[in-house]
Amino acid sequence: QKNTPVENDMRLQRDSVTLKELIGGGQFGNVYKAIYHNQETAERIAVAVKVCKLEAEPADTQLILQESSLMRNFRHAHIITLIGVCMEQPMWLVMELASRGELREYLQAEKDWLPLRTLLLFCSQLASALVYLHASRFVHRDIAARNVLVCSPLCVKLADFGLSRALDYDAVYTASRGKLPIKWLAPESVNFRQFSMASDVWMFGVCMWEILSLGTKPWVGVPNADVITHIEQGIRPARPEECPVSLYSFIEKQVWALEAHKRPTIDQVAMVVENVLAQTIEG
Ligand code: ADP
Repeated sequence: QKNTPVENDMRLQRDSVTLKELIGGGQFGNVYKAIYHNQETAERIAVAVKVCKLEAEPADTQLILQESSLMRNFRHAHIITLIGVCMEQPMWLVMELASRGELREYLQAEKDWLPLRTLLLFCSQLASALVYLHASRFVHRDIAARNVLVCSPLCVKLADFGLSRALDYDAVYTASRGKLPIKWLAPESVNFRQFSMASDVWMFGVCMWEILSLGTKPWVGVPNADVITHIEQGIRPARPEECPVSLYSFIEKQVWALEAHKRPTIDQVAMVVENVLAQTIEG
């Protein structure tokens, strides 16, 4: 079996990682807090380790490795960094630890005091991560608040996109979760399985809506099967109470434009969010 230098570079010795407590379970395996002991620098750092539960086929293993290498090439202040992979079965993915956990839970727990400014800051941080990915011609396909982690009270990061891409997207959602994330998807993704930077922009609009709604999911009470009809009729999720009118109308009219080519680029979205943030002193 051949390995590229990048893949070799990703490998960590299992005995350099000590698992601690369980912090979460996902469809690919459990995630633990752990300590990584870097033998070269003698540093010990707190990390998160995903213990992959897939009885990985050699082909899957290869794919996961390739995607992990890709993920490691993406270095950005608001993307969870992949530190390395322990290859022996079960495979361990060692990544940067987000000590405050999932964004949705964080928003729900802290909603009584979180100022609008912080919500907008989170949106702008995630926008900058997407600007970076799109500049590398990388389409994310699964932008949603559930894929955002909180590192500190003023810092969120996009998590773990490598693995969801390593596996067949439809298979992952249809086999493991039963459903595609219909309520987050752009209409062309639902109708034609088309994914592009423009469909990422739509999804980012939904993600901003979730953040500004303090962790509420979109289209509550609407069956998946009806969402696309609503969208085609021009109906959109309502303005979250906290959301400035100017930002909401930008999301509603432009980010959620039915036709993909009418949507702004993520760079334009990031600029709008920056401007709204700059105008929001407090509150
Ligand atoms: P999967 O993609 O297999 O569904 P997730 O990536 O959603 O798994 O991880 C499961 C849970 O583990 C997350 O919901 C989160 O609570 C936790 N988690 C994942 N990655 C990290 C991380 N880097 N830091 C802190 N917690 C994490």
